[in-house]
Amino acid sequence: MSRVYNFSAGPSMLPEPVLKKAAEEMLDYKGSGMSVMEMSHRSGIYMEIHERAEATLRKLMNIPDNYSVLFLQGGASQQFAMIPMNLLGQNRKIDFIHTGNWTKKAIDEAKVQATVNIVASSEDKNFSYIPEDYQFSPDADYVHICTNNTIEGTKYPSIPDTGNIPLVADMSSNILSEEIDVTKFGLIFAGAQKNLGPSGVTVVIIRKDLIGKHSDQVPVIFRYATHDKEKSLYNTPPCYSIYTAGLVFEYVEQLGGVKAIEAINREKAGILYDFIDESSLFSSPVDKRYRSLMNIPFLTQSNDLNKKFIAEAEKEGLVTLAGHRSVGGMRASIYNAMPVEGVKKLVEFMKKFEMANK
Ligand code: PMP
Repeated sequence: MSRVYNFSAGPSMLPEPVLKKAAEEMLDYKGSGMSVMEMSHRSGIYMEIHERAEATLRKLMNIPDNYSVLFLQGGASQQFAMIPMNLLGQNRKIDFIHTGNWTKKAIDEAKVQATVNIVASSEDKNFSYIPEDYQFSPDADYVHICTNNTIEGTKYPSIPDTGNIPLVADMSSNILSEEIDVTKFGLIFAGAQKNLGPSGVTVVIIRKDLIGKHSDQVPVIFRYATHDKEKSLYNTPPCYSIYTAGLVFEYVEQLGGVKAIEAINREKAGILYDFIDESSLFSSPVDKRYRSLMNIPFLTQSNDLNKKFIAEAEKEGLVTLAGHRSVGGMRASIYNAMPVEGVKKLVEFMKKFEMANK
């Protein structure tokens, strides 16, 4: 068996102990004689998996009792539509801080239902920073931000204070990567396929007083109230994705929780940024103050050299290093499951490549 270091932005690496445990339990989960994939979602044995996953996530993120945790489908993209369906009030107004591709998608979707007000944008500098100068509309139903911009490689240095206006955060690419204070948010959502598990499940953490504000026009399946009432079992949930995410949560817990993972993430990102900043070949397009710990874009001076780098890296078992098709260059996504050794191996390879291509 030879596993590569996979720098994909998502779906991305899962911790090897999680994959091994899932493999061990694949054919016969705890003496049930069946795989988790084959179980009724109403069975006691599945319910235990479902409830344990939620309980472990609550512990890891210190989620207070006045928040619900939902396991939904449709990806983070479905939340771009579901959030306005559920959170808009009489005003039908949303404030956005526009920081890249994923807020663009959310803005376009929100415009179908609401008046969108872009209170700040970093588009003037190619989304290479996070704006810090903005004023929220007093009558906004909520404020939408993306805490980590997967494609552009930026993250918020601190969380905006929105006062009484609920703050909604897309944390798809940095949930569980560093400690956060859940109480600052009205709603947090994240597709699982980066730090939480396989694709198929989307985690929504929502303050309970924001549930049930939908109008009668909102289809039952798209109401948070429906899924909250049925504990994410209104219809068949993505059982296997939830099971695997539960294994990831337990793995993070065993490592010492989010605090311990954050220290490792800072070490990994530090190794890569320090090298890039000293390099005469590679550079980072992102303002230092706003650099992501998870997604690290970098470039050489030429597209041909970028292509050569990506191809040669692949031969060394360092794969999926191409930047997003919209920005080019390279991007190393180093989520929780990327070992420190993977980042060290990447930097060693970058050093060699630099020597050979001076
Ligand atoms: N938001 C962010 C920050 C993302 O990185 C992604 C996926 N890369 C999405 C939303 C969309 O997620 P999904 O594919 O689960 O709809």
